[in-house]
Formats: sequence, C-alpha cells, structure tokens
Amino acid sequence: MILDADGKPCRACNSMTDFMKTAGAGGSGSGSGAAAGARPATPPPSPPATSASAASPGATPAGEAAPVPLECPPDLLEIGRGTWTFLHTAAAYYPKDPSPQHRADMTNLVSILGRLFPCGDCASHLTEYAAAHPPDTSSRTSISQWFCEMHNDVNVRLGKPVFDCARVLERWRDGPADGSC
Ligand SMILES: Cc1cc2nc3c(=O)[nH]c(=O)nc-3n(C[C@H](O)[C@H](O)[C@H](O)COP(=O)(O)OP(=O)(O)OC[C@H]3O[C@@H](n4cnc5c(N)ncnc54)[C@H](O)[C@@H]3O)c2cc1C
Repeated sequence: MILDADGKPCRACNSMTDFMKTAGAGGSGSGSGAAAGARPATPPPSPPATSASAASPGATPAGEAAPVPLECPPDLLEIGRGTWTFLHTAAAYYPKDPSPQHRADMTNLVSILGRLFPCGDCASHLTEYAAAHPPDTSSRTSISQWFCEMHNDVNVRLGKPVFDCARVLERWRDGPADGSC
C-alpha cells in the first residue's frame, strides 16, 4: 500500500482493490466507517453507474466483482487510463510540422506531468525517463513514438504487454483499416 504525503493510503497511487483492502481494515485515514461510505455494497440504481475502473473493483463476499459507483474518487488504474488517453491523443493530433510554441508547449506538458501527476512514484519515474530520453517534439510521429515508448517503459515495469509502436496512430487517431471503430 503506497501512502500519500500525509502518510495516509493514497487512492491515486493504488488500485481500488488494494485501497479498499486497507480502508476496510480501518486504514482509510478518513475515520472509521469510511470504507462503507466510500464504496457502497450495491451500486446506485440509476443509471447503472460503472466507470473505467469497474474492471478492478474489490470482490463481493461471494467472490463476484461488484461494479464501482461512477462517482467514487479515481484509483491509479482509472487515472492512468485517462491520462494515457489524453497524452496519446494529444500526440496524435500534434502538428506534423510544429511551431516553436507547439514544441515548447509539449516539452512543458511532459515537465508539468512529472510534477503534478497525482501518483508521486509514477511522476518520479516519468521525470527520470524524460531526463534519460528527452521528448522528441519535432513532429507528430516523433512525439507519438516517444509517448508510446515511455508508456512501454511503464508497461514493462508493471509486467504488462509491450505495445507495437508502429500502430500508435492507428490506436489513437486513425482507427483500424477494417472500419471496426
Ligand atoms: C505517466 C504515467 C505513469 C504511470 N506510472 C505507473 C507506475 O509507476 N505504477 C503503476 O502501477 N501504474 C502507473 N501508471 C498507470 C498504468 O500505466 C496504467 O494506466 C494502469 O495500470 C491501467 O492499465 P491498463 O492495463 O488499463 O492500460 P493502460 O496502460 O492504462 O493503457 C491504456 C490503453 O493504452 C494502449 N496502450 C498500451 N500501451 C501503449 C503504448 N505503449 N503506447 C500507446 N498505447 C498503448 C492500450 O490500448 C491500452 O488499453 C502510470 C500512468 C501514467 C499516465
């Protein structure tokens, strides 16, 4: 369990499953009963509210996955997916021939992400990666490849599959040739 700067379990640095295990043991840092308040046993009736983190909820007593209510604070998985969506899409729509201002903006985005990403350890890794591999802001293709390789660096660290960076614009801008998206 990764703790936040106040020494409390950090939602933004852990999966909902890990967070709720600790919160359920009274470790939420928000007082007793916070676990029940933060994650009702049943989701609200309408709409059927699930979020991107619904794939990583805690288990019900029967061992079944329970949907996470939409308005729970995000865990690291949801923040990560949302942030990657923004970064890869921003790269995919970056100019082919960027102006000096565009290039400075993209460099600043990476620096700022390394300071403001809510998971501190993740932010530190990003800053270290960017120092060792400075972002190539010279074109849409180059920055898309840079984010892809940076994401793969995280994937490898987490034991996830490596993404084929030749397909990054298909994934984040053009869609597959078969028209399925
Ligand atoms: C900057 C940053 C640093 C992070 N650091 C950590 C960390 O240190 N520890 C940690 O536990 N979590 C970290 N995360 C979160 C982690 O990367 C995932 O977002 C999270 O685990 C959810 O993973 P996922 O399997 O749903 O897919 P994600 O990794 O979130 O990927 C979302 C989608 O992106 C596509 N994709 C996958 N790889 C690539 C790629 N290389 N290029 C382009 N598209 C790709 C796939 O279609 C995938 O479904 C970080 C997130 C960010 C944005």
